[in-house]
Amino acid sequence: MQDSSDVIFLAILSVVVIILTGVSGKVNMGFQVPGFPRPLSAKRKEILKKHFPYYSQLSPNRRKRFEQKVQYFIYVKDFIPRQIPTVTEEMKVLISACAVQLTFGYPKVFLSHFKRILVYPDNYYSTINNTFHKGEVNPRLRTIVLSWKAFVEGYIHPKDGRNLGLHEMAHALRLENLILNTEYSFFDEAVLQQWQSMADLEMQNISSGKSRMFRDYAGTDSDEFFAVAIENFFERPEKFKSLMPNLYGILVLLLKQDPLNPV
Ligand SMILES: [Zn+2]
Repeated sequence: MQDSSDVIFLAILSVVVIILTGVSGKVNMGFQVPGFPRPLSAKRKEILKKHFPYYSQLSPNRRKRFEQKVQYFIYVKDFIPRQIPTVTEEMKVLISACAVQLTFGYPKVFLSHFKRILVYPDNYYSTINNTFHKGEVNPRLRTIVLSWKAFVEGYIHPKDGRNLGLHEMAHALRLENLILNTEYSFFDEAVLQQWQSMADLEMQNISSGKSRMFRDYAGTDSDEFFAVAIENFFERPEKFKSLMPNLYGILVLLLKQDPLNPV
């Protein structure tokens, strides 16, 4: 009798523990985590502390959320080495951190359409247009491609308004918003429309050589404009806000975060 009541007690306790684990996972992450990946390891945290200032300036609570998002991003993506033996822990952590930086205002957005991250050691030759590339986003192949050298250079020079990782992740983010899946249409439509009309005006300034902020490449089309604006948003927010407060303000609303006001 004693034995069977112990068994029942243990069974109930196990159910309670499983439920509580599930609930706490949901509360902390803001979404259900299939398979409950382990917390970010000390080694991965060390990589963030050493190389990712965006992470270091967050409050302890938000740092925790950042770690969870990085861990989940690594967990759900296939990192595929090209012309290198392996994608190292440092590459995985920092590439994931870059995606989390951009999507930090959206707890449930993980660029889920893009399953594969291809990492080349340096710029790579593309037979599509017979030129060397630093990175690209291919929605048909569900792939983000990055040159590790160019990725690192983006973060080594954190104030020059050029960051390959953020640039490519920005392309992926814009596409993700349009792709019919669980992450579809996370941008507020009205804010997005405001963004587009202001972006069109600024693109005219670029084509007539009057832009005081963005490099000419931003005038290529609205996708490149968005990607270059994101680079500047994170790398030169003071200049961006002082020269174009309205455009900057719309980007704050669109990304649900303000690099000048990290909380
Ligand atoms: Zn681009």
